[in-house]
Amino acid sequence: MEWKGIRGTVLNDVPMKRYTSMKVGGPVKYLVYPHDEEDLLRVLGLLRDKGMAYRFLGNGTNVIVHDGGLDEAVIRTTRIKRVRYTKTGEDVSVEVSGGTSLKAFIRDTADRGLSGLERLFWIPGTVGGGVKMNAGSFGSWISGPLESVCLAGNDGETVSIAKDDMGFGYRTSRVRPSECVMTARFRLCYRNKDEIRRDMDYVYGERKARHPVEYPSAGSVFKGVDGEPAWKFIEKAGMKGMRIGGAMVSEKHANFIVNSGTATAEEVKLLIDKIKSEVFEKTGVSLKEEVELWGFNG
Ligand SMILES: Cc1cc2nc3c(=O)[nH]c(=O)nc-3n(C[C@H](O)[C@H](O)[C@H](O)COP(=O)(O)OP(=O)(O)OC[C@H]3O[C@@H](n4cnc5c(N)ncnc54)[C@H](O)[C@@H]3O)c2cc1C
Repeated sequence: MEWKGIRGTVLNDVPMKRYTSMKVGGPVKYLVYPHDEEDLLRVLGLLRDKGMAYRFLGNGTNVIVHDGGLDEAVIRTTRIKRVRYTKTGEDVSVEVSGGTSLKAFIRDTADRGLSGLERLFWIPGTVGGGVKMNAGSFGSWISGPLESVCLAGNDGETVSIAKDDMGFGYRTSRVRPSECVMTARFRLCYRNKDEIRRDMDYVYGERKARHPVEYPSAGSVFKGVDGEPAWKFIEKAGMKGMRIGGAMVSEKHANFIVNSGTATAEEVKLLIDKIKSEVFEKTGVSLKEEVELWGFNG
């Protein structure tokens, strides 16, 4: 395919294990890094004209890609990083590009004494991935201080959606696979910087203590069930430390599957299926994936 007029970078047949935090997955036909928002719309137009399937990728911290890869284009947003602060009365309205690292963004807001996102500190994704997944931690959700989202579809149009129309739920939103979170607008309020930092330090400390951050993973594999965390059921089923090849149920946190070094996507998927069936058999609970599995349906 020709990429006429595109200012960004297009890579051919690159293995997704390089671009996902689980470090598994085969090649995608095209990995496209749009230069800016205008370029992204151009890429979408080209893909529509060619009838080529595509998906969006942020930091790849919630996806597991099949070893056989994908015969699709993956549009990686991480070069588009723009943050604009506007004072509105007592608060500040912040417009941030979807490709911006959530961690870097939260650090920046904290440095300005702006509060609202600090309990999401150290979630390793982008703002766009966070909005799509309605990322959350320590009782906070990214949708909490959100005001609106600007979405782009392959018709080349952008549309601003108010938070209440975003369909946010537990790790869900109305963002479709074909739509890009171009920007998100948050309303943040001023708070004592030391108090914000204290919260961030707490969150960081807890994450380091509880999560197996020393291994590649895709974070929590399964969603909680009726307010109960999934790790409880996995522990109850006696699956901590269980391995299939290089994929292992973390000893530190049973809802994490870690790549001990040599895992393949197939091994990760087999372990996911094994956990689901053992948990169901031993506790009667049906676990649902929080991670996205790309390319596993034939
Ligand atoms: C160690 C670790 C800890 C984690 N802790 C947490 C946690 O505490 N809470 C939590 O909620 N999650 C957590 N996660 C999971 C993950 O970081 C979040 O889901 C994050 O929001 C994903 O962002 P991403 O940019 O990596 O998205 P990706 O993994 O790249 O993509 C995830 C989904 O979002 C879509 N997407 C990405 N960017 C865009 C965009 N701009 N527009 C439209 N769609 C887009 C993708 O198509 C895909 O459907 C953790 C992961 C790891 C590895």
